[in-house]
Amino acid sequence: MLKYANFDIVFQEVPEEVTLAINISNCPNRCPGCHSKYLWENIGKPLDTNELNRLVEQYKSGITCVCFMGGDNEPDTVAELAKQLKNNHKGLKAAWYSGKNELPENISTDHFDYIKLGRYVANLGPLDSATTNQRMMKRLADGRVKDITEWFRKNKKLESVGAESALSSAADVTAQTIQTEAVAIA
Ligand code: SF4
Repeated sequence: MLKYANFDIVFQEVPEEVTLAINISNCPNRCPGCHSKYLWENIGKPLDTNELNRLVEQYKSGITCVCFMGGDNEPDTVAELAKQLKNNHKGLKAAWYSGKNELPENISTDHFDYIKLGRYVANLGPLDSATTNQRMMKRLADGRVKDITEWFRKNKKLESVGAESALSSAADVTAQTIQTEAVAIA
């Protein structure tokens, strides 16, 4: 039985999507340097179609995607839940963060719009690292599958430019404020 420990609404795990990310427990991958070791335990609530529907109904007005974070112990169940999600909630995208380097051959990926593959290797870094071993694949409208891992590095660069620009604007405002106060005092 697939179980999930918790969930969150996230903005960066799946590019250009607002995602309900469901953290599935009982992870078999044991990646050295794992930041979510609590997910190694078989903890949480059962995640079946009813529970998935309940979560989605609660948040569907604000999300564009649902991501199954883990589930490598029961990949066939994850694939089935993705199928149910796409059938029951038209327009919502389905994503899967697998910690495996490859999915088992018998698993259907037809119902996923995004699949992230690859173990976490601390010295290679996560998806936004230039040396990462992980890959994010996206199914395009014409059915082709494209490697979009590069998007994470571009988004990271844009974020750091945005942060620098916000800092320099804040510095400008402070300088102007000081000048205005100086004029007023004079
Ligand atoms: S797949 Fe994720 S949760 Fe599982 S061991 Fe690796 S980093 Fe940790």
